[in-house]
Amino acid sequence: MNRNEDLEEKKLLGSGGHAFAKLTEQEEVKASLGVPQIFLSNVGRLSEDRFTKYHCNKCAKEYSGSPAISYENPNEQLGENVMLIEKGDYICRKCNNILAIYRKFNK
Ligand SMILES: [Zn+2]
Repeated sequence: MNRNEDLEEKKLLGSGGHAFAKLTEQEEVKASLGVPQIFLSNVGRLSEDRFTKYHCNKCAKEYSGSPAISYENPNEQLGENVMLIEKGDYICRKCNNILAIYRKFNK
């Protein structure tokens, strides 16, 4: 039920750059945590077709399309009830600079 008219293009900030992607209102609320900036690390993994362009700080350049996404599912037990389900990086396709990292826990 992802109707296109519900998606809005937003700027997503990362430590090594930023990206522009289309988010649903729900994803935006979830990722912004009440502040005006939206961070890639809070959004987690978005499908690549959501991205329109990204900017790499190392290249000091903007590229169209999505950054590369590299992730693994370690399922690592970190505490009694906390498990690291997924960790991933958003990476510049030209220079492999990490734009942002994210971690997903079971809670
Ligand atoms: Zn780059």
